[in-house]
Amino acid sequence: MRKQIAAANWKMNLTFEQADQLINELLNFSFQLNDNQLVLLGVPFPYLMMAQHHLRLSNGIFVCAQNCASTSNGAYTGEVSAEMLKSMDISFVIIGHSERREYYHENNALLSEKVNKALESKVKPVFCCGEPLAVREGNNQNSFVEQQLKESLFHLSSDQIRNFIIAYEPIWAIGTGKTATSEQAQEMHAHIRNVFAEKYGMEIADSISILYGGSVKGANAADIFGKPDVDGGLVGGASLVATEFQKIINSLKA
Ligand code: PEP
Repeated sequence: MRKQIAAANWKMNLTFEQADQLINELLNFSFQLNDNQLVLLGVPFPYLMMAQHHLRLSNGIFVCAQNCASTSNGAYTGEVSAEMLKSMDISFVIIGHSERREYYHENNALLSEKVNKALESKVKPVFCCGEPLAVREGNNQNSFVEQQLKESLFHLSSDQIRNFIIAYEPIWAIGTGKTATSEQAQEMHAHIRNVFAEKYGMEIADSISILYGGSVKGANAADIFGKPDVDGGLVGGASLVATEFQKIINSLKA
């Protein structure tokens, strides 16, 4: 059965002290995660070790990086390699967030290199896709997302795609307070699963966790996560408030 996942994306927020406090607050809640549920905390690079230290005894909660380099170790000032992440026991990394695509010009080809580097180091990608508003308004979102997936992931083998994590994040819903309806999310998630089924077969497509991202909060998480092809969420703003993120975690399907 595919995993149900609540993934926090803190982005470039919080001082070290605030980050430490937020993790402590989260750990003070008694989550009842079952074997099929995962919580990921996507913290900024400088806080990875601190978060890792806090979470070492927690069950089902893992630290996640927000990015990794498309190259191996070497003369790349300011970059962080997947191998470095793995050497710190960080096993998850967000790749292809729309903010990185837009502000740092990361295209589908470069993202496919990042995915390769992550997999080579046994760091699991949380691969983001999603369309801008103009594409949605033109009703071209299905082919747009399909192309992102094909150009960055379709070179992977069936074994590499099994249990993969995708985050569908319509750009018009990120940080805007505007959420896709649960029906819009389900429609796109079913499409994404179908895109993988056509290439890799239904059994593998069914093993992929497809998260929704875009203004998820405590009040709407249960409705969105309740849809059959929505396997949890990638959460920005609401993951910075412990009580909100707790509600989101509690909204995961069993
Ligand atoms: C995100 O950054 O991945 C995100 C979905 O942000 P928000 O929840 O704030 O819309």
